[in-house]
Amino acid sequence: MTKTTSPRHQIVIVGGGTAGTSVAASLRRRQPALDIAVIEPSESHYYQPAFTLVGGGTMSLDETARPQQETLPEGISWIQQAVAAFDPKSNCLTLDDGRSLAYDILVVAAGIQLNWDQIEGLTEALGHNGVCSNYSPDYAPYTWECLRHFRGGNAIFTQPAPPLKCAGAPQKIAYLAADHARRNGVLSDSTFHLYSGAGALFSVPDFVPYLEEVAQRYGIGIHLSHHLLSVDGNQRIARFQNTDPAGNQDEIEQPFDLLHVTPPQTAPDFIRSSPLATSEGWVDVHRNTTQHNHYPNVFALGDASSLPTSKTAAAVRKQAPVTVTNILAHLAGRELAASYDGYTSCPLITAYGKVILAEFIYDGVVTPTLPLNPFKESRFYWWVKTTALPAFYWRGMLRGYEPDIVHKPRPSKASASA
Ligand SMILES: Cc1cc2nc3c(=O)[nH]c(=O)nc-3n(C[C@H](O)[C@H](O)[C@H](O)COP(=O)(O)OP(=O)(O)OC[C@H]3O[C@@H](n4cnc5c(N)ncnc54)[C@H](O)[C@@H]3O)c2cc1C
Repeated sequence: MTKTTSPRHQIVIVGGGTAGTSVAASLRRRQPALDIAVIEPSESHYYQPAFTLVGGGTMSLDETARPQQETLPEGISWIQQAVAAFDPKSNCLTLDDGRSLAYDILVVAAGIQLNWDQIEGLTEALGHNGVCSNYSPDYAPYTWECLRHFRGGNAIFTQPAPPLKCAGAPQKIAYLAADHARRNGVLSDSTFHLYSGAGALFSVPDFVPYLEEVAQRYGIGIHLSHHLLSVDGNQRIARFQNTDPAGNQDEIEQPFDLLHVTPPQTAPDFIRSSPLATSEGWVDVHRNTTQHNHYPNVFALGDASSLPTSKTAAAVRKQAPVTVTNILAHLAGRELAASYDGYTSCPLITAYGKVILAEFIYDGVVTPTLPLNPFKESRFYWWVKTTALPAFYWRGMLRGYEPDIVHKPRPSKASASA
């Protein structure tokens, strides 16, 4: 009997999005001789942080997209497939078409799964009757159509319970929509509501009072612990389940003229069902080294990882150099010296032309990069969000440039006033 062996690569990266491409580019830049394969099914690479700007009408969808072939670094093998299963004991994985692939080092960077179908009626309703979502390139342009044609009425914005990528995005579009309505003189003829499955308006308490002030300015009602159950696009009715602090549940129906939905999100099914996963489904990695807690030749970063921080591209910017340094150390038989501190950031757009840049590390410690008031709405940070960051993403991050931009902890509001 002849034994067939799977094709093998020194480094196999699953996912060619923000994290996978950044890691591939950085590895190539540091060690051009490495044999790297990236497994990525999509033809296009999107700069997802700009989907909010597409929905707000300040950027076109085309500006957020590049062909995958152009964004992946030269000299790597692109396998245009999806991964179906992992077999880490054999250092092997299975592709959707049934082929298997072996590796010396595996990097999992397959993002988060959007579960549109968990909301009854949503898939049919999206894209019509004022039902939109910035969470898909298919519907973000329709958000802008809805904002443009909004002539007053009930505007509703939903946010699922965590986890979700860019947890600030559901409220950013609410603020843009309200600001747009204000500019068109229809805000006073409208009601704006944010229904969130979370228990707080933002995960870092220091930012909450400032965001509450912004919401109040527009008259946006904030309703926490409300889960979207179903959408009836034809009748324009959204149904929510509300859980009160005592745990009692009831259901409410809300008519809408505009409904922006952020879908429920989980770890991807193929990771959740694999030996690589934590009980919650994420790739089980060390919070500082990004190395797998049981399989030392496996690393993970970005939205698919168990790293206990907010899931953003900004977090990936700091995770990628740590992951790459530690992969190279592992290959050389050295100790893993690079350490990720949980840095993440969220440019909270509060109006056209204004942003609060929330930067923080593990345990919600606020860590601004620049010596500016991190709680103040800023025009400069609007420029950073709309101009500097997209340019840096395409020309810097995805090409493996890793400038060491330092962020510094500052005392929390709570501890400062204690
Ligand atoms: C509306 C919106 C607003 C956002 N705003 C911001 C912001 O302002 N700032 C910020 O920093 N971040 C923001 N983000 C979040 C940011 O885009 C993500 O956190 C970031 O892209 C995560 O990178 P990733 O590589 O982990 O996942 P992704 O970039 O999503 O890449 C995952 C890749 O894995 C691939 N994949 C999936 N399944 C498989 C499989 N089975 N096999 C192989 N490949 C697979 C996918 O095709 C995809 O290309 C926003 C996101 C959205 C949707």
